[in-house]
Amino acid sequence: MTDVLARLRAMQAGDLPVHGGRTLAYVYDSGLPEADEVGRSAVAAYAGSNGLDPTAFPSLLTMENDLVGFACEMVDAPTTAVGTVTSGGTESVLLAVQAARDANPSIERPRMVLPSTAHAAFHKASHYFGVETVVVPVTSDFRADVAAMTAAIDDRTVLVVASAPSYAHGVVDPVTELAAAADARGVRCHVDACIGGWVLPYAARLGREVTPWTFAVEGVTSISVDLHKYAYTPKGTSILLHRNPALRKPQFFASADWPGYTMLNATMQSTKSGGPLAAAWAVVQTIGDDGYQSLARDVFEAVDRLVLGIEAIPELRVVVRPDSTLIALATSSACDPFTICDEMAAAGWYVQPQMAYADSPATIHLSVSAATLAHVDDFLAALAAAVSAAVEVGPVVVDEEVVAFIAALDPADLTDEDFDGLLAASGLVSEVEDTADSGSGGLALPERMAQVNAMLDVAAPEMREALLVAFLDRLSRPARTGNH
Ligand SMILES: *Cc1c(COP(=O)(O)O)cnc(C)c1O
Repeated sequence: MTDVLARLRAMQAGDLPVHGGRTLAYVYDSGLPEADEVGRSAVAAYAGSNGLDPTAFPSLLTMENDLVGFACEMVDAPTTAVGTVTSGGTESVLLAVQAARDANPSIERPRMVLPSTAHAAFHKASHYFGVETVVVPVTSDFRADVAAMTAAIDDRTVLVVASAPSYAHGVVDPVTELAAAADARGVRCHVDACIGGWVLPYAARLGREVTPWTFAVEGVTSISVDLHKYAYTPKGTSILLHRNPALRKPQFFASADWPGYTMLNATMQSTKSGGPLAAAWAVVQTIGDDGYQSLARDVFEAVDRLVLGIEAIPELRVVVRPDSTLIALATSSACDPFTICDEMAAAGWYVQPQMAYADSPATIHLSVSAATLAHVDDFLAALAAAVSAAVEVGPVVVDEEVVAFIAALDPADLTDEDFDGLLAASGLVSEVEDTADSGSGGLALPERMAQVNAMLDVAAPEMREALLVAFLDRLSRPARTGNH
């Protein structure tokens, strides 16, 4: 057993660190060892418990109601509000869209109105549930355009979406106006507070200016809040809240149409581990309201110092003053974001590249954690060094030939040959350990991503999607044992 665990630890050493405040996307670090320990122990204690049936595992129902109750207090929920713990932000978003669709069975081709900055989870929901997206460009301050969104609501609209805040730019949409416009047409309004929901309420208490986005805003019908982001819990928990039980009802699924137990589910999963829920409960109990207040003070101090420090680097600018704990930064033409991301990675910091989209250039995303506060000066020093190195080599250039090659490809039917050609043309071919159809190989992950990211950046969004799907396909190949 110790041997297997040692092998696990050895493999994990190649992953991004989840503690230490140096990973500024994907993971959220409270910096509180006690909270981490309690979370890990709770996951282990409940790993085998099944959330399928709350009557068989009543402790899970108790923990869920506790967590939803805690969230209700934070988001000014009326006494009628109800909620469900889900596996993550995407599941909360999927269920909000599914419930909105199924609450309107008479609308044959339902639509949802999204600001262009809405999370990709809404596009996934569209893909899964056949709810057409009406994507409305945001204004020059990266916030939803109220007039254009209002004008986009029609008889087929089942949902209007706002973010608090948006992932890519970290700003809160004008929720009051959007919710009022939805309400006036009898349409649901979902506020995606997956990333802001557990930190903005504390920002408001700290006296920071926060655009209203909670159930205190009339017309807001549902809110998603992730626990595995700023509640600093282990991965696998989010909460979807509805203003009242009637709004939630279409989210529930029951089937007695088979010979087994009557299936009764509040979420997309049926059998589900009790681990993430128990861990979330344990971490929230451990940190508590005062603890979150203090973590929020830390994270916002880090954000404010980072913004000042970034603006002191001449080649960088903060894209928009952040409303929450996310920072998007852009570069001058002297360097490029992708090279900076690679340089930061080489120095032990993970910052996330974001491709150019619509009118916005490629940027670097930072999800700041409370644990980052202790390292702000180190981070800024590393960033300044990364910028210098990126200026030194100059912006990454995508070969004219590759640009032409990509432009000539049809994303609708990207063949294996096209993909191989692209890898060859991009100079990535040396990264190919083996060809896809020879069985064992697939691709190795490249050390430096700037060239790949720059290539993806010049591709149209549909082409990016097709290329990345082909890439993922090549990465995901079974390691066969040859035993049978
Ligand atoms: C993270 C996030 C999501 C999706 O959540 P996952 O937990 O990654 O599935 C949705 N919306 C916003 C704004 C987010 O930041």
